[in-house]
Amino acid sequence: MKQILVWLLLSQAFQQYCFGQTSRFDSIIKKQISTKEELRKIQPNHFLIQPIGDAGNIGVFNGKQRLILIDNQLGVLTPKIKQQLKLITPRKPSLIINTHFHYEHTNGNLVFGSELIPIVAHENTRIRMEKDRLLSAPVSVIQKAYPTKGLPTITFIERMQLYDDTETIELTHVKKAHTDGDIIIQFKNANVFYTGDLFVRNALPFIDENNGGDIYGMIQAINYLINIANEASKIVPGHGDVCGMKELREYRDMLTTIRNKTISLAREKKSEEEIITNMLEFIKTNDSYVNKKVFTLHTLRMVQKHERL
Ligand SMILES: [Zn+2]
Repeated sequence: MKQILVWLLLSQAFQQYCFGQTSRFDSIIKKQISTKEELRKIQPNHFLIQPIGDAGNIGVFNGKQRLILIDNQLGVLTPKIKQQLKLITPRKPSLIINTHFHYEHTNGNLVFGSELIPIVAHENTRIRMEKDRLLSAPVSVIQKAYPTKGLPTITFIERMQLYDDTETIELTHVKKAHTDGDIIIQFKNANVFYTGDLFVRNALPFIDENNGGDIYGMIQAINYLINIANEASKIVPGHGDVCGMKELREYRDMLTTIRNKTISLAREKKSEEEIITNMLEFIKTNDSYVNKKVFTLHTLRMVQKHERL
């Protein structure tokens, strides 16, 4: 009897927690409604719809045959996104690609999906979207399950090619990086790459450990991108401005240095507190979104797991 009572209390507490989290999620989405959007030209047929706020970048490929969107921000912003698209072309999008499952890149699926526009993603992205998911700190919010109309309609496992006239678009899954469903999207003729949140500018990245993220995979994914890109490539990050190989290498070096320093400290048998103090001094980036302490703790957990320390 006592056990049943404890179970009931715990389950009530859990339900209250979940309810609080989902209503928090709704208010996070609503707050974004005031986001302003800016349109930037990357190349003659590639554009960036860049938000001033927390939402993610949208890539726009105005192809000969199709208008393709890479990510779509939030459903509350879809009218503003459509206004920006009208500045490029009167055509409606014919295809959407989700770089990964996080809401600030894919919540627009709810609108575009209900218009029956096909949505392509890695199969883990769809699996993550099918259920409520607790995002890792510092976000720590439950992203609500998508209704069927907002789910990707075409999924793949390792690699997929799409074609538009003479352009080849290659989608490649990179394992366990920012999440477990990240893809790199390469436009081969245009030499433009879209990375989702594998790569963000001027900040520490958010690594969603609860949903398959791992700093080791993140470094591996960026190294893969550096290998297939070249000095003339345009790299479009998940958040921030378009850039090139120089910024990508700097970002890879930053992540690798932080990871390696954490390995050395852990091998010296320093305590968790000592490692955090050391790393807070070591990491130079000032970041308001992912704080250094959270990032250090995530990195330490990954290092302990991979290096068996
Ligand atoms: Zn993300």
